[in-house]
Amino acid sequence: MIPAPFDYKVPASLEEAVGLLAGDPDGTKILAGGHSLIPAMKLRLAQPQLLVDIARIKSLAYIREEGDQILIGATTTHYQLESSDLLKDICPLLPLCGASIGDVQVRNKGTIGGSIAHSDPAADWPAAVLALDAELVLVGPSGERTVKAADFFVDLFTTDLQPGEILREIRIKKPTGRFGQAYQKVPHPASGYAVVGVAVHLVLNDDGSCKSASIGVTGVGAKAYRAQAVESALAGSNLDDDAISAGVSHICDGVDPNSDLSASGEYRCHLAQVHTRRALQAAKASVQ
Ligand SMILES: Cc1cc2nc3c(=O)[nH]c(=O)nc-3n(C[C@H](O)[C@H](O)[C@H](O)COP(=O)(O)OP(=O)(O)OC[C@H]3O[C@@H](n4cnc5c(N)ncnc54)[C@H](O)[C@@H]3O)c2cc1C
Repeated sequence: MIPAPFDYKVPASLEEAVGLLAGDPDGTKILAGGHSLIPAMKLRLAQPQLLVDIARIKSLAYIREEGDQILIGATTTHYQLESSDLLKDICPLLPLCGASIGDVQVRNKGTIGGSIAHSDPAADWPAAVLALDAELVLVGPSGERTVKAADFFVDLFTTDLQPGEILREIRIKKPTGRFGQAYQKVPHPASGYAVVGVAVHLVLNDDGSCKSASIGVTGVGAKAYRAQAVESALAGSNLDDDAISAGVSHICDGVDPNSDLSASGEYRCHLAQVHTRRALQAAKASVQ
């Protein structure tokens, strides 16, 4: 399929991009890696009048430490996150999640900001940023605001981004203490998207019991979510097989699981239990 006609602009700065978007917020789309937007345009599910290409604004792609935070620019690609030695050292969940996405072409072009802004129910990054309790920095015509990842994902392909706003940065508190992380996923055999994906950030007490388990789940419901009932069940437990089994039985609490050609809702919940268990075990094994 061929997209409907559209205009294309390459701003030199984020400020210019915000200005272009403000000109016609409904008819304009931000273009980042294009790996979700261009397919949607080819199917004519999206027919923007104007594309504003932010992938060429070099200052929007970075991974750096600042104080007790990790800062990630919105146009940082999946590959840049997957291959970051800094992140492998201080927050391995991010490289693990990035490495699980699609194939090498998708990872070379697709961006973390595009994935989070798009909020596909089967996208991987939403699970990771939820588990890491990330903050998202949004910039629009009336300035900048910060939203917690837990408040950002609203519904199917729907986020808290308001017309005219651009996701500029992802902020994550540097993990501290005795922590371990893991990402486990059942990839769709054709696309690699998550039939189910589970991100875990686990913190242990000195005696090896669970101080906290933060669990982000994607692929199961209309949007990615924090598995709070599992987290509560695990807090304070000794994380043995019985404790983990009891905890993961709550993985679909309060969620209406998707049913489609890949998996029924019931099977998705089963997969989510199995992969949450695996992610918790892998996270525990990775604690140093
Ligand atoms: C074959 C294939 C396999 C894939 N497999 C996977 C997979 O396994 N896991 C997975 O998670 N994803 C997968 N994807 C999706 C891929 O990761 C996309 O890159 C990602 O979903 C969107 O990022 P993008 O940079 O390409 O965004 P784009 O396609 O450029 O944009 C997507 C949407 O977000 C908006 N947007 C982009 N950036 C911003 C911003 N900074 N602020 C505000 N709005 C913005 C755009 O306007 C558009 O509406 C796959 C895609 C393909 C084509």
